[in-house]
Parts: sequence; structure tokens; C-alpha cells
Amino acid sequence: MQIKQTNQELNFHNYPTFDKEIDPKQRAWIEVSGKAIESNVRQLRSILNKSCQFMAVVKADGYGHDAKVVSDYAVKGGASHLGVATLKEGIRLRSSGIKTPILILGNLYTKRDLIISFKNDLMPTISSIRECLICNNIGKQFGLRFSLHLKVDTGMSRLGFEFNKLVQQFEKIKSFENIKIEGIYSHLSSADENDALDHKSSTQIQMRKFQQLLKQINFDRTHNIKIHLANSAGMLLNKDFHFDMVRVGLSMYGYSPLAKINKNLSLIPALFLKVKVSFIRTIDQGVGVSYGGKFVSDRKTKLAVLSIGYADGVPRNLSGKIKVIHNNKLYPQVGSITMDQMMVDVTGSNTIKIGSTMILLGFDRDQIISALDWARGSETIPWEILCSFKNRLPRVQVD
Ligand SMILES: *Cc1c(COP(=O)(O)O)cnc(C)c1O
Repeated sequence: MQIKQTNQELNFHNYPTFDKEIDPKQRAWIEVSGKAIESNVRQLRSILNKSCQFMAVVKADGYGHDAKVVSDYAVKGGASHLGVATLKEGIRLRSSGIKTPILILGNLYTKRDLIISFKNDLMPTISSIRECLICNNIGKQFGLRFSLHLKVDTGMSRLGFEFNKLVQQFEKIKSFENIKIEGIYSHLSSADENDALDHKSSTQIQMRKFQQLLKQINFDRTHNIKIHLANSAGMLLNKDFHFDMVRVGLSMYGYSPLAKINKNLSLIPALFLKVKVSFIRTIDQGVGVSYGGKFVSDRKTKLAVLSIGYADGVPRNLSGKIKVIHNNKLYPQVGSITMDQMMVDVTGSNTIKIGSTMILLGFDRDQIISALDWARGSETIPWEILCSFKNRLPRVQVD
């Protein structure tokens, strides 16, 4: 960046005073490729039978990508349903004009919340007869049927009817005139474990339990109730897990939850994390960098200061463990990651300047840095990396 002398008079009014007018790429930002989402959904759907539907899971603001953008492109790619975690997430999508059926995966338990869900055409997940009764009463009061999904616990021990209770109570629930059972589902706890296809694995035990439930309630295909079990990992295991619908999050965003990459899938990561270089300095040999001086230069070192830190959602325990991409080359991050900034060793580069853009997550020709790499370095899972990014990072849709 060059500083030019100009004689032109500066017009004060041309400069923003509102947050919205600030260039989203002024500091650090997330780029979201809608086309990548669309392509991933199409590819994943190609593994499914024609009659099997695809629920795009867009909870936690679309795993940090921007739920509205993800929803729009997932629907373009063929998603028939959307899944959110909370009432508010559902309402947000409805108020942005989305008409696709939406299932709330979390639990609503007050009459008020269930009325709001009904009013906004959101389907709740129901885990007890008590909630069924509330929904039936709401439906009755409005002279309509309240659409919902019943959930059964098959081994996750989170939400869902106890197996025996659902078996006992299903006929009664079916007889409620003002509710409409749109789906019956369960959730897998361990489908991403290596043993998931072994007969004795907890995934297979869950599967058999789910099938047993369907048998014991005399489940009748003609009822038009959708049966669903699989998350991304379950869907990629094999067709037995697909039933009438799959609920897919992680792999739609471009990552495989399984260690063994299967099929001929070439999923594309939809999220790029980018940042501007805000300052450049050169330090001598033997100089400490950042808090605690944990990194000490072993030679004269050119440092780029990047204006991003753990307050943006970059895990601090990745300090000194990550690299960034500039112009198809990798540069190591050095010293502790601070709240708002971090340093990168760019010795040897003549092209990196104040204002240069660096890629923290994403790819540039031969170089790729994935949320999986960060997850390994940070001893967590890619899901957590993706949904840790804070609102301080503007989301920019790139296509
Ligand atoms: C989050 C979630 C999913 C999606 O899981 P992925 O592993 O990201 O595919 C599916 N079902 C339920 C109930 C969930 O909460």
C-alpha cells in the first residue's frame, strides 16, 4: 500500500459513521461460498435413493457460515428440509423469507414457545407425552393440526422418548386429532467411530433398536410419516441408515466426519477465513514475540501482524501450531495468539505488505488449510472450530 500525497480536498461526508458502511473486508472476515454448499448437497444427494429426502442442518448460524446463505444454496442443491437448534434460529429463517419446512432439533417445553413455533410454521421435536398434549391443545385452539416430529432415544441419552414409553404411548399419540406426526427420528451417538459398521458397535445397536421400535409400533409406511436417523457420518456409512430422510450438517459444509474418506465424493469446504496484514516489522535474532515471550527469533525475522485473535474465535491453544497462506505459500504463525492479533513469520517474502490478505482457513492453488487441521491442533472436532467464529467477523458471500 502506498501513501499518495493528494491535493484533493477530503470530503468528510464520504466516510462512514455507521457500522454497516464499513468495508466487511477491512480487517478479518469469513467468505462463504454458496456454490460450494450447493455442490456438496448435490453430491451427497447422489448417494441417496430418489425418494430419500435431505435435511440441511443449519443450526448455530449454519455452522458459522450464515444460516440464510447456507439455507438458500442448500435448497438450490435439493434440500427439502432445514434443521435448526433453537426457536430463534427458526424464526430468523422464516423472517428472512424461507418457506422450506423447518425442524427444531432442540427441545421446546413451554406452551408459549410451542405456540410461537406453531405460529411461525416451525416443527418442534417432541420427546414426551406432556409436550404432545400441549401441542394437541394448541392445535385445537386454532382449529388446525400442529405438525411435529417425535424423537426416540436409542442410545444417545439426550432428547427423545424412552423406548418403551413411545411403544406404549404411540397409539394414543396417533389418536390426537390436532397434531400431525410428520416424522419419527433418533440420533446416532458414535457413527463417526471407526467401528461403526461392526455388528457389536453402538451404532449398530442403535440401528437395531430403531428398527425394533418401528416394528413394535406397527409402523405403517402408508402413514406418510418420515423416518430419519442419520447425521453426516451415519449417511456416509451405508444406505441402511438413510430411511426416508438424512439430517446432514458437517459434510454439507465440505468436511468428512469419517477418518476413511469414502465414495467418490469431492466435498468442497465452503468457508474461507481471511485477514489483512495490519503491520510489518523486522526483529533481530534473540527477540521474544507476543505475551510471555514464548517464541524467540533464531534469526533476523520479518513479522506480519494479522488483525485477528481469539476474540474472533481462533483458538488460543493453536498458538505456534498453525500456518497461513499467502500467494500459494505457507507462513508459520509465531508467539501466543492474542485477543485481537497474532504474528506470522514472513521472512523471505517481498510481496507481503501492510494491507495484504492472508488465508487462515481455505485454499489457494496447492495450499489448503482445513478446519480439520485446526481441530487436530486444538484437540477438538471440526464442528467446534466452525461454530466458534464470533460475530465480530463479517460473513461475506462470494458467489
Ligand atoms: C447437529 C445435528 C445433526 C447434524 O450432524 P452432522 O454430524 O453435522 O451431520 C443431525 N441431527 C441432529 C439431531 C443434530 O443435532
